[in-house]
Amino acid sequence: MKKLYLYNTLTRKKEEFKPLQDQKVGLYTCGPTVYNFAHIGNLRTYLFEDFLKRVLLYDGFEVDHVMNITDVGHLTSDEDEGEDKIELGARREGKTAREIADFYEAAFRRDLERLNILAPNIYCKATDNIAEQIELIQKLEAKGYTYLTSDGVYFDTSKFKDYNQLSHLDLETLREGARVEKNPEKKNPTDFALWKFSTPTYSPPYQGGEKRGGKRQMEWDSPWGVGFPGWHIECSAMSMKYLGEQFDLHCGGIDHINVHHTNEIAQSEAATGKHPWVKIWMHGAFLNIAGGKKMAKSEENFLTLENAFLKKGIDPLVFRFAALSVHYRKPMEYGEEAVESAKNGLEHLHNQVKGLAGSEGSIDPGFKDKFRKAINDDLNMPEALAIAQELLKSKLPDGDKSATILDFDRVFGLELKMAAVPLKIEELPARIQELISARQRAREERNWQESDRLRDELKRLDYSIEDIKEEGKEVQRVIKIR
Ligand code: AMP
Ligand code: ZN
Repeated sequence: MKKLYLYNTLTRKKEEFKPLQDQKVGLYTCGPTVYNFAHIGNLRTYLFEDFLKRVLLYDGFEVDHVMNITDVGHLTSDEDEGEDKIELGARREGKTAREIADFYEAAFRRDLERLNILAPNIYCKATDNIAEQIELIQKLEAKGYTYLTSDGVYFDTSKFKDYNQLSHLDLETLREGARVEKNPEKKNPTDFALWKFSTPTYSPPYQGGEKRGGKRQMEWDSPWGVGFPGWHIECSAMSMKYLGEQFDLHCGGIDHINVHHTNEIAQSEAATGKHPWVKIWMHGAFLNIAGGKKMAKSEENFLTLENAFLKKGIDPLVFRFAALSVHYRKPMEYGEEAVESAKNGLEHLHNQVKGLAGSEGSIDPGFKDKFRKAINDDLNMPEALAIAQELLKSKLPDGDKSATILDFDRVFGLELKMAAVPLKIEELPARIQELISARQRAREERNWQESDRLRDELKRLDYSIEDIKEEGKEVQRVIKIR
């Protein structure tokens, strides 16, 4: 078996990956805060994690993948101040917090499906695991890592000696980087909330003291008072619940290194006394809008899969292809040019595979070996795509090319098999058949606007339609996007 090398943020080195238990890998990926749609920057991170998971599966590992859904406790500032994002969303939309979380969780899952991202084995919600979080805080309390303020229970980071093991920043810099202190009760700027009270008891309110928008919808009893868990504790509690006190891989975007993941390590290692809590930490670089600006939910440049791709009639897999084309540790630029180039790249690949349809053969061991070497070198997907092109342009028989590229597609996830198999129109759902006939009529009437609108409508329902010439006659080729 080829060795798998992964870049570990903890050691800042590529390391050979050896799972803690034989062939079984525990993988935790930090999931979304479900108060809004995911933007395509977030989705880039989930794509990188999917590439990792598919490489592990391709290498023959069994992957136990857990992803959290943050439906409480993530405040508008990552550092324990401001409002709970879900409660804020509920007020913004005049709905209950539960409705908001459920709606955006469903939208998130749909986005992952559209991008052909494999679903985790377990999705876990913070609100379903309050008891586990309280229990973990009690453990930390018993070991003397916590202190009480009028605003909640805090973790004393000065008591945990390896606090900077992930960030590699010296503690002075880390503490200066922590936000300008507003909470005078915090002992160190890097200390963070484990449990927050629904109604802080500070008196008089200090300058900048948290403004919370009226009564909270989500709150629970605890040994310290009625309130809700801090954002970081959910990931520690749930990952250990499902994957054990030590596990193999933990991922997220690079913005999580200095605060969220640093705090997760402190809580988990302080509670169990075991080091390392997680063997390999991996972080994806950001997606930036062309020109270098980071995409963020708070900025105007907020693009969703829906408005950046589906509404424009672009297959979401074009975004997946674009993400494959840039190494996950390099920033990725999003702009018209990048989309155009990914669109052409994917179309070209689909056409190449279509040209091989119907031929049978076997996987070429030479190309497979090269491919495996690339993906196992810290997920070098751009190189893997280049090897796919080399294969398709080689002199191998069509059947072998086809078998080999479909094998590679277990990692790419570009639905290359679908590309080669048009669907029979008469076997499609009635609504889809209706839209196809309506589009056919519009074309006969040369009503191109209506025909385009119907094509977009079909795209939204995940069917792509193309008009091609077969033996001089125009026919329609329908593909289910997924
Ligand atoms: P959130 O829903 O804000 O917790 O973010 C979900 C994931 O997206 C996290 O792993 C973040 O690190 C990641 N993320 C946030 N912004 C970007 C961006 N512009 N590019 C790539 N990943 C991002
Ligand atoms: Zn997390």
